[in-house]
Amino acid sequence: MKAHDAMYIGGEWRPAASTETVPVIDPATEQVVARVPAGTAEDVDAAVRAARAALPGWAATPPAERAARLAALRDALAARAEEIAATVTTELGAPPQLAAAVHTGLPIAVAGSYAELAATHAFEEKVGNSTVYSEPVGVVAAITPWNYPLHQIVAKVAPALAAGCAIVLKPAEDTPLTAQLFAEVVHEAGVPAGVFNLVTGLGTVAGQALAEHPGVDLVSFTGSTAVGRKIGALAGGAVKRVALELGGKSANVILPSADLGKAVAVGIANVMSNSGQTCSAWTRMLVHADRYEEAVGLAAAAVAKYVPGERVGPLVSAGQRDRVRGYIEKGLAEGARLVAGGPDAPRDTGYYVSPTVFADVTPDMTIAQEEIFGPVVSLIRYEDEADALAIANGTVYGLAGAVWGEPEEAVAFARRMETGQVDINGGRFNPLAPFGGWKQSGVGRELGAHGLAEYLQTKSLQF
Ligand code: NAP
Ligand code: MG
Repeated sequence: MKAHDAMYIGGEWRPAASTETVPVIDPATEQVVARVPAGTAEDVDAAVRAARAALPGWAATPPAERAARLAALRDALAARAEEIAATVTTELGAPPQLAAAVHTGLPIAVAGSYAELAATHAFEEKVGNSTVYSEPVGVVAAITPWNYPLHQIVAKVAPALAAGCAIVLKPAEDTPLTAQLFAEVVHEAGVPAGVFNLVTGLGTVAGQALAEHPGVDLVSFTGSTAVGRKIGALAGGAVKRVALELGGKSANVILPSADLGKAVAVGIANVMSNSGQTCSAWTRMLVHADRYEEAVGLAAAAVAKYVPGERVGPLVSAGQRDRVRGYIEKGLAEGARLVAGGPDAPRDTGYYVSPTVFADVTPDMTIAQEEIFGPVVSLIRYEDEADALAIANGTVYGLAGAVWGEPEEAVAFARRMETGQVDINGGRFNPLAPFGGWKQSGVGRELGAHGLAEYLQTKSLQF
């Protein structure tokens, strides 16, 4: 696999300050396929300086020109779609079809949406005797996870570019090749030198140095709640803006009026996609007591289609695999009923975990409370709607969810859920809708106009 042994800073690939590297592992083969430089505080400092130097020019660039660069970025991504998909398959383990449709297709769509928003957004409005300008927030530190390597990058970089911000990106150590490819694409799109910079390396070293850097105005982080809490505290101490997209434990609520077969099948597909490594996955399936055993049978049948090595890829790393297996063992130990899957490795090679379905899960069990981030779904029984709502809202998270049933009933239920987005009867993902969490799932929103607003600050002139 192609890898740069340098950082992308100030519009060029510059040697890293240290000779240390981070290995990139193909999780399907367990082989090291490349190495990238391990960034240090020195690299981060160089990148932030380059961003600060580029900021005034880019901030003053007319929105129409920023829109043109974003359209070029979208087109350059589309032109390299096959290479992107192959890279995501290699370093994340995503099956080729998923890598093409979601990991590549979605970020192209998001880049396109910001080309349009940059061109059409009102960066200026009149309020009484004032003119209110929306100005870029400044230098953005973007820290991203590995689960949707390109999407998580584009969901930050595209709105930041549209707003007129300069960016330093620290991508996940497990998926740096997609980030390097993205830097090449930004370069091809004609984004001025220094507006986008990339420092690869470890979160505890490069990520931490970036989050702490006084030259950063906004830290936009996607990842675990544990790290998000630290970054939020750092930003608070420095009176710096922060956006946090964190974990989830979303509920898939199947009301008695639902089409049970469809709700269960789509619910299983939702969790198994990307090997369960989706923050918004509906990992808790809530079913009325009267239809519970029927749902268990349907879930067992539905999950059989998800064969490791075919429709389901490996987990990203040995560490994630061990963590997920640990949760499966915990579920067994706490008395949940195993309906499919289990802790045993389904293949000899690769970080695979068996698609797993648990029944008789009670709301207080560890597997019903903590984010597992693997192909594991828990079926929870409820007695009535009030019970279902208490269970759905009964975690520290609030990122996503689903409700199935007669549409008016489903909407009324969804309106009472403590969560950022709910799909009604299988409603499609909308890349223009605000995405983000309530409670400990985060602070701030990504995507669409709400995502753009995260990168803007206002200035009012009175006349
Ligand atoms: P993570 O460990 O929190 O890492 C996220 C990013 O932060 C990585 O780039 C990581 O670098 C970096 N990092 C780690 N420690 C840091 C520190 N002390 N200071 C600064 N940066 C640091 O999460 P992950 O394992 O990559 O991803 C899985 C988690 O992310 C899950 O909990 C999932 O729910 C959550 N997630 C949430 C969303 C959302 O939109 N809400 C989306 C995707 C994932 P390294 O790669 O070197 O660790
Ligand atoms: Mg890896």
